[in-house]
Amino acid sequence: MESAVDITENGNGLVIPQNYKKLHRLNEDHLYHLALDTQKDDLEKMFGDVRFVCFGGQPSRMEKFSALVAEELKIYDHEKDGDRPKNYAAGTDRYSIHKVGPVLSVSHGIGIPSLSVVFNEIIKLVYYAKCKDVEFFRIGTCGGVGLEPGTVVVTEKAVDGEMNPYYKLSVLGKPVKRLAKVDQSLMESLLKCSEPDDEFKTVKGTTLCADDFYEGQARLDGAFCEYEEEDKMKFLQELKKKGVCNIEMESLGFLAMCHYAGVKGAVACVTLLDRLKEDTLSCDLSMLKKWQERPQNIVLRHIKKKLNNH
Ligand code: URA
Repeated sequence: MESAVDITENGNGLVIPQNYKKLHRLNEDHLYHLALDTQKDDLEKMFGDVRFVCFGGQPSRMEKFSALVAEELKIYDHEKDGDRPKNYAAGTDRYSIHKVGPVLSVSHGIGIPSLSVVFNEIIKLVYYAKCKDVEFFRIGTCGGVGLEPGTVVVTEKAVDGEMNPYYKLSVLGKPVKRLAKVDQSLMESLLKCSEPDDEFKTVKGTTLCADDFYEGQARLDGAFCEYEEEDKMKFLQELKKKGVCNIEMESLGFLAMCHYAGVKGAVACVTLLDRLKEDTLSCDLSMLKKWQERPQNIVLRHIKKKLNNH
C-alpha cells in the first residue's frame, strides 16, 4: 500500500503535492476543470488566505453554504456575481468554487471518480496559492443504518463495499491501494461541535463508501436487482453489527486522498433516511434543506473556533 506524504516533514504548513517535481517542469498549469490557470490567474493573490476547503456534492448546496459562511463569519466583502457569491469555476460546467474569507466551498459531483478530478486540482490550487495549514472537509448527505433520519455522522473509519479501508485505483494497468485514514484530531474536534440544544444527534461511526447508489447500496428500487428483501436486510444488519452507521459515495476516496496529500481531512454527513426501513428518498424538500445545514453548521462551528483561537 502506498504511504502518504509526511505532514510533519513539512513544518511550514504548506501543501506540497507528491508530484511537485513534474509540476515544476510545466510552463503553465491549467486547472482545467476549475477554469483557472497559473498564467492568467494570480492564484496566491486570489486564494492565498484560504484555510478551510469544504467539499460537497451539489453546486447549489455549496453556494448556499458559502452564503451561510458569509453570514456566520460576518464577511461581506467577498467577490460577488450580483448578490450571489462569485463562482470562480463558472467557466466550466463541471464544478463550482466559492470563496468567502478563509473558506473555500467546492462542489465535487457524485462518486469518487468525479471527486478525484476536482480534488487533484484543488490540491494544486492550494499549493500554487501557498495556502498554509489548510483543513479539508466533506460535508454531505448519506443513508443511515439504524439511525434516526437527520442525524449527523462524523466518519471514524471509511470502508469500501467489501469493508476494505482503502481506496483502490488502477494506475498503468496495476492496482494501487491508498489507505483512508481519518485525521483523529479533526474528527474529535467536529464531534465536540455538537451542542446540547441541537435538534439532532451527532455521532461517529464507520462509513461505507459505495461505488453506486442502487445495487452498490443494497437498494431494491434500482433498474437492476438480483437479490430479495431478506438478502438486503441480512447485509444491512451485518453492516450495522460491524459498526457501519452510514452509506454514501465519496468518503473513502476523500479521506485516502487527504491522507496521501498530507492534508488534514474529515467527513460529516447527514442521514436522509434509515436504510433499515426504506430505500427511497422521499422526505420533503424543506426538511431536506434544513437537514443539509446540520453538518454544515457542525463544520462552521469548528471553523469559527479555529479562527477565534488564532
Ligand atoms: N447518498 C447516498 O449515497 N445514499 C443515500 O442513501 C443518500 C444519500
